[in-house]
Amino acid sequence: MGKCMIIGCGGVASVAIHKCCQNSGIFEGIMIASRTKSKCDALRDKLQPTTKTVIETAQVNADNVDELVTLINSYKPDVVLNLALPYQDLTIMDACLATKTHYVDTANYEPLDTAKFEYKWQWAYREKFEQAGITALLGSGFDPGVTGVFSAYAMKHEFDEINYIDILDCNGGDHGYPFATNFNPEINIREVSAKGSYIENGEWVETEPMEIKRVYNFKGVGEKDMYLLHHEELESLALNIKGIKRIRFFMTFGQSYLTHLKCLENVGMTSIEPIMYEGREIVPLQFLKAVLPDPATLGARTVGKTNIGCIFRGKKDGKDKTYYLYNICDHQECYREVGSQAISYTTGVPAMIGAMMIMTGQWNRAGVYNIEEFDPDPFMQALNEWGLPWEEDFNPTLVD
Ligand code: NDP
Repeated sequence: MGKCMIIGCGGVASVAIHKCCQNSGIFEGIMIASRTKSKCDALRDKLQPTTKTVIETAQVNADNVDELVTLINSYKPDVVLNLALPYQDLTIMDACLATKTHYVDTANYEPLDTAKFEYKWQWAYREKFEQAGITALLGSGFDPGVTGVFSAYAMKHEFDEINYIDILDCNGGDHGYPFATNFNPEINIREVSAKGSYIENGEWVETEPMEIKRVYNFKGVGEKDMYLLHHEELESLALNIKGIKRIRFFMTFGQSYLTHLKCLENVGMTSIEPIMYEGREIVPLQFLKAVLPDPATLGARTVGKTNIGCIFRGKKDGKDKTYYLYNICDHQECYREVGSQAISYTTGVPAMIGAMMIMTGQWNRAGVYNIEEFDPDPFMQALNEWGLPWEEDFNPTLVD
């Protein structure tokens, strides 16, 4: 039992907040603190009559460490759950250090001016968190997040060594718009327009954006085109899982999405370089975000399913072994339960579970850790209980 401060009140935060309120035995109190307080208040007004969790709200600029420290000191949460944007990771970690409060996030820090996804900035906090006696749990969404828990579970129960991991992220959902992104457009487009990369024999291999394409038949969804992307969990999994020779990440994209993205790229709309427009500096990608549909509004329109998981290949008792762990999630079921589509749902549920692992002391180690460094068993059990049941396949089709 305890209190959690949730920073941000967007698509992912909304799901996590719904789930905390369903789990009031653990989350006695939550504070929703974000840039736009009216959004926090609206969610509190909707949820407070349905839950024993006591919901408070506050306005905060999470880029400002002093403001965060003052707010944390006044609310005294057991854990801060960062569901704002990756740009705020370090300021929120600084505030957690100053107040000796545990920290959880779902995406690694990224400086505003370079789309570079690396853990080095957050890993640099390891000693400080150890000395302060608090935990930072990095990447408690789906990918990163559940993919790391799946990897730790496979390592613990199914393999002596894992040599190959392919993470497959399939969204078979259709929102009916020619072009929209399922989560924050700025973060999403930065991710997919960057060069692809994967790790082979301890080295990063770089590809052009969308250079490597495969077709895969996903259970619950059907056949989809998928493309190799760089993804942040590759970096930590390659270090934390024993025996890795190669680890790749694939995400499905429809042709309409890719055609629009190419066109927007060609005209310069996805650039993160500021330009001058009518005497004012603007970032084209931030302007594009302003004209695209708000991901929070997609839920009602999106039909279909997601299927996200990991295919592992390695050895058990001297024999080759293959194992696929995945979750299938239905957009409309998510919408009926919490008013959001499955992309926010599959991230918000693990975010709540990550905070719960720390609040209940099931994951209790001072320092900065990626999710696969903890015992996966209680998290796997919680996924089944809180809406993201997983399935396993001991004879999956492999990706060549
Ligand atoms: P949204 O843009 O919907 O929400 C972000 C929220 O953060 C908004 O409420 C925004 O406020 C608030 N915010 C932004 N800047 C500040 C600030 N300086 N101070 C206070 N609040 C701020 O994003 P999503 O919900 O889609 O994504 C949230 C996070 O989840 C991102 O980091 C994203 O990368 C991550 N993610 C992780 C996934 C995973 O599987 N691991 C998958 C999907 C997302 P306002 O309402 O005023 O705009």
